[in-house]
Amino acid sequence: MLGMSSELVQSEDFAHVFGGNRVLEPMDPFAMCYGGHQFGNWAGQLGDGRAINMCEVVDVNGRRQTLQLKGAGPTPYSRSADGLAVLRSSVREFLCSEAMHHLGVPTTRALSLVATGESVMRDMFYDGNPRYEPGAVVCRVAPSFLRFGNFQIFASRDDTENLTKLLAYTIRNDFPELAPGSPTDSFGGDRFEPEVYAEWFGEVCRSTAEMIVHWMRVGFVHGVMNTDNMSILGLTIDYGPYGWLEDYDPHWTPNTTDAQGRRYCFGNQPQIAQWNLAQLAGALASFLGDDLSPLQAGLRAYVETFNQQWHAMMASKLGLESFDKETDEPLIEDLLGLLQLAETDMTIFFRQLSLVGARVDGSDTADALEVLSAAYYRTEQLTDEVRQKTSEWITRYRQRVALDGVDDITRRTRMNRVNPKYVLRNYLAQMAIDRSEQGDDSLIAELLDVLRNPYDEQPGRESFAEKRPEWARHRAGCSMLSCSS
Ligand code: AMP
Ligand code: MG
Ligand code: MG
Repeated sequence: MLGMSSELVQSEDFAHVFGGNRVLEPMDPFAMCYGGHQFGNWAGQLGDGRAINMCEVVDVNGRRQTLQLKGAGPTPYSRSADGLAVLRSSVREFLCSEAMHHLGVPTTRALSLVATGESVMRDMFYDGNPRYEPGAVVCRVAPSFLRFGNFQIFASRDDTENLTKLLAYTIRNDFPELAPGSPTDSFGGDRFEPEVYAEWFGEVCRSTAEMIVHWMRVGFVHGVMNTDNMSILGLTIDYGPYGWLEDYDPHWTPNTTDAQGRRYCFGNQPQIAQWNLAQLAGALASFLGDDLSPLQAGLRAYVETFNQQWHAMMASKLGLESFDKETDEPLIEDLLGLLQLAETDMTIFFRQLSLVGARVDGSDTADALEVLSAAYYRTEQLTDEVRQKTSEWITRYRQRVALDGVDDITRRTRMNRVNPKYVLRNYLAQMAIDRSEQGDDSLIAELLDVLRNPYDEQPGRESFAEKRPEWARHRAGCSMLSCSS
């Protein structure tokens, strides 16, 4: 994508540059200043404490891409922290951003993962004893790394001059269709008409809604949806204590720091994104003149986009041609209730559901239950009541599918393009980390390869699509994680 030659990638320069040791002409690295709302409270200036923009390149499609190192050492905004990242969190960021990209989820990419050979001090278990872990640097790639918090920080300081410049820069460079006039001077700092800011906010609302719908589709839980972790381009950014739903549980969050309030649990993500957008709206208020209703319209556009796309997405997960409110809303609601009656693996369930055919005579409901049972973690939870309710739902589902009149093979193929077989299961990431800490990178490479084709059957690699094994249920790193590391 970046048009780098294999000679460059294999050169010594590459390792030095992407390990954070060398700056090549004409790079002019800088860190960005941003603040944010953390867990609902304004936290002031936060970073970038360990991310450094190295350069911009024009990719093979003619789009600007920024190359950013994470974990290469302190920046002017590191506060008291070291600016470093450990191998554990870097492997997680590297693998997950690529997995998300290949799933079709808007995200920052990962170009490289370089082990630094240094030891980084981390108090992993909060038991008072420092623990040392190997350090690493990831190079992330995105057209822009600007976050809601980059705009909020200037608004919070009443720094209208810099906020005006940053808005003009962003709109001209990343939303050129909204900018009147040619993008001759990126840092012109000129002020647009209020409508331009309103339209821009509406765009941010829509792309954020699209991103969240994708998260809900694949079972991704970001874990720290603070406003400093929200991309202005609607990209998934900052892979920290994220996790993947194993059993379908809307209340689940992988983030131990959030275990009490569960603010950022799976099911809250749509509402939290809207709350975050409202904070961004607040930062823009002074650019709208006397009439703030366009900002409210933007927030409404978020809800409308989300609802419309969420329904379409759920219909596609079920293999329906389109979403019909009257029949399909209760079908979807009841399914989501059903999935919580017994611990049900979300990924496996939807993949298996594609094998449940459209036969409507009811005679083979037992077969369908058998097919779906591959998704259950504890067969003892499949009580008569759960079986009964599942059977009833299957019958309704088959009737609905039959209405579309699409043959089973076609529907299955379509479903398998939106319901992945392979996701970065939490325990798989941890296994890759454990091995790489022992000096064996092979599982990172193999996972990366598997996750490049998440919707395909990959014979011989079925073990990567299995349910989380019992040993991983309560193991650190496999189900629960803390914030920055
Ligand atoms: P996070 O919760 O991961 O989004 O982190 C919040 C902020 O803390 C980020 O904006 C970083 O700038 C900063 N931060 C996290 N870890 C470090 C570190 N090791 N060194 C410096 N800054 C850090
Ligand atoms: Mg962050
Ligand atoms: Mg982080």
